[in-house]
Amino acid sequence: MNKHYRSFNDYIKERFGRKLYKLSLSVSNTCPNRDGTVGVGGCIFCSGMGSGDFAQSASLDVKTQISLAKEKVKDKCKNGSYIAYFQSFTSTYCDHDKLKNALYCALEDESIYALSIATRPDTLPNDVLSLLNDAAKIKPLFVELGLQSSKEESIKYIRRGYDNGVYAKAAEELHKIGAEVVTHMIIGLPGEDLCDMLATAKFISDCKSDGIKLQLLHVLRGTDLAKDFEKGLFQTLTKKEYIDIIGTVIEHLPPDMVIHRITGDGPKKILISPLWSADKKDVMNSVSKEFDRRNVVQGKFYK
Ligand code: SF4
Repeated sequence: MNKHYRSFNDYIKERFGRKLYKLSLSVSNTCPNRDGTVGVGGCIFCSGMGSGDFAQSASLDVKTQISLAKEKVKDKCKNGSYIAYFQSFTSTYCDHDKLKNALYCALEDESIYALSIATRPDTLPNDVLSLLNDAAKIKPLFVELGLQSSKEESIKYIRRGYDNGVYAKAAEELHKIGAEVVTHMIIGLPGEDLCDMLATAKFISDCKSDGIKLQLLHVLRGTDLAKDFEKGLFQTLTKKEYIDIIGTVIEHLPPDMVIHRITGDGPKKILISPLWSADKKDVMNSVSKEFDRRNVVQGKFYK
């Protein structure tokens, strides 16, 4: 059990009595921030794989994707218990029947204990909410929302394409249907200091997000963020800076919020910076040592 924060693995074991492994799946192959509905270039940091760099291809039917994903994790997953994770692009941004079939395919699989859907808060129309409502009655449902930051300048810089109120409303609607909200927050955005990041953490807490994914800002090849980085317009965080910040953010989060992630897995092949983040084992060891030294406790400074 993690003594510093309420980890996702601990939460899952507590809730399901077992460890669950994520099957990374795709149901959508674009997002409104790419196809012109909201924007065309996508978020400034997005690799063009829509955050689904490790997921199966959306062109395959979901049953096949599930089998392939199980095969991929078979050496790690000894108990055959999974979460269907619809990860790529904006998972609720596709044909309604396609989404329905995908969800029911996962709901009908007895080895899948829960569903997780990554999407944008501006892409939850009533028909989708109604579908998610039905799904949440059958199996636990996590809905991941990519907020990243609540700071106005950052929202414009990353070209997020919706305002904070849209996120707050989506969180409220999702809670009404019994879904658990998991919010993505980026640590280390250009121009942000610790106060800005604590303000985002407070906003996420105030919106009663059930969980959070803390993601180190990665610069990936081929993104517009990489162009700014190569021009020297900003620097990425050092490992020490990152660990200091996440320790402080965690101390300011509600004690019961589930911390789904404290690092990111940027695809190594296209990772430009920070390169230290590619060694996940070393990062986790360093986090553990520093959290012990500092005696980080989630919620210590939560108000
Ligand atoms: S991060 Fe998500 S919302 Fe932003 S461009 Fe990529 S897929 Fe679209």
